[in-house]
Amino acid sequence: MEEIPQDHPRYVSLMIRRKIVEGFEAGIVVPQGLLAHGRGEAIDYILGETTHPPALEATRAAAALLLLSKHPVISVNGNTSSLVPHEIIRLSKLLKARIEVNLFHRTPERVKRIKEFLEKMGAEDILGDSDLVEIPGLSSQRRFVAREGIYSADTVLVPLEDGDRAEKLVAMKKNVVAIDLNPLSRTSKAATISIVDNVVRAMPNLCRAVEELKVKPTSELERIYHLFNNEENLRRMIELIFRRLSRLAGLEEQI
Ligand code: ATP
Ligand code: MG
Repeated sequence: MEEIPQDHPRYVSLMIRRKIVEGFEAGIVVPQGLLAHGRGEAIDYILGETTHPPALEATRAAAALLLLSKHPVISVNGNTSSLVPHEIIRLSKLLKARIEVNLFHRTPERVKRIKEFLEKMGAEDILGDSDLVEIPGLSSQRRFVAREGIYSADTVLVPLEDGDRAEKLVAMKKNVVAIDLNPLSRTSKAATISIVDNVVRAMPNLCRAVEELKVKPTSELERIYHLFNNEENLRRMIELIFRRLSRLAGLEEQI
């Protein structure tokens, strides 16, 4: 692949694109995944490609909730596996959480390829290719979930989720932690905790927060989780976008 000069102003963004394209060439990412990434990039551009305080607060609350959970599961798709394979594995080990492949554009071959890709990097016992049951009321392919994975989980981490399934998981009384750059998406609105940040920054931050909170007493974790308000956090992220755009347009004084 062609060289990306390190002093290029969009170096980080271009390196992320490279990973997605490599995932596409390896048959892990579907063409629709490239488009979904583009939608995320557009919002990240507005956010200045940086993690903002509300996202960090959501990350901390998510870490507390995941540590309080009895049966947390990490749901992965092609994009997430291509972008943050090491962090998926690190988090699953820190939380003793199973990893499950769950795809909107599902084929048995792609499930197998993603599973093998993560296993090559050190993941173990990945779910998603056998003993599947259906999420009630969901028509997309995402309805196929592992009985001992997402189906019986109390909390599901869903980086880059589809809104339909996030709503159904919540209807099944599960806690949903979403990582989604779009604070307006149905996923963000439906989730118990939405981390509005790029998955490439949010996943390492989440690993760090879990490491830090792991040693805290349950009462402290409960306090952190209960103090968090998702609606309020999303409102702050939307306001932040609004203020950033206003400042860039030179309208700041007028609002
Ligand atoms: P929803 O179904 O929740 O209403 P949507 O239909 O707009 O959302 P999907 O195509 O289902 O979106 O999923 C893509 C989502 O993932 C988008 O909201 C996009 O902003 C987000 N996204 C894409 N790439 C990233 C990334 N690298 N990090 C975080 N979020 C991302
Ligand atoms: Mg969608």
